Amino acid sequence: MLVFEQIRAGGDRNFGYLVGDRDAGVAALIDPSYSPDAFVERAREQGLHVTHIINTHGHEDHVNGNARAVELTHAPVAAHPACPVAVDLPLSEGMEIAVGSLRLQFLHVPGHADDHVTVYEPRHQILLTGDLIFVGKVGGTKTDEDARIEWDSLQRVVAAIPPPATVWPGHDYGARPSSTLALERATNPFLRCADLDAFLQMKRDWPAYKKRLGLR
Ligand SMILES: [Zn+2]
Repeated sequence: MLVFEQIRAGGDRNFGYLVGDRDAGVAALIDPSYSPDAFVERAREQGLHVTHIINTHGHEDHVNGNARAVELTHAPVAAHPACPVAVDLPLSEGMEIAVGSLRLQFLHVPGHADDHVTVYEPRHQILLTGDLIFVGKVGGTKTDEDARIEWDSLQRVVAAIPPPATVWPGHDYGARPSSTLALERATNPFLRCADLDAFLQMKRDWPAYKKRLGLR
């Protein structure tokens, strides 16, 4: 039986996740960041042994709880090899980790960060998007080149993941705390862009667009 919790970790409306298999008694923590004790407590209260600590990317606000989470659980840290933390289990494109009967599959999706991965559980169609896709927007990029790379990553995710998949972001930046890939494709202004040029233009126009719509 699936255990899936979206946990408000603190920081800048950061979200982390507890993903587990109740029958197997195991779980993974995704980006426990500011609240590692709370994440481990949620696992323990449900009799779940934490087998992995997974980072979507190496930005400080996603990895700052790793040391404490490892201290509490002795679980290995799984992240992309370019992630600037101690990585026990390097995650590469197409790799899969089993957590009980769950399969966590990884896509390497650079742009917002070079080491960014998404986590997808195919049986329940759960997609953890980190700072790649938020509800109603996408992760910030510093240069046009990074924006181009992010565009490619977004196209790959849209091609690889079925539209009914639920989308669970790394921050509570949207009108709702979660979404579906179909809904984001229909309503997220960045995923609605027809091509790369439109995407780059939307990135440039975003501050004015946001102001006009009164978005946070
Ligand atoms: Zn980030």
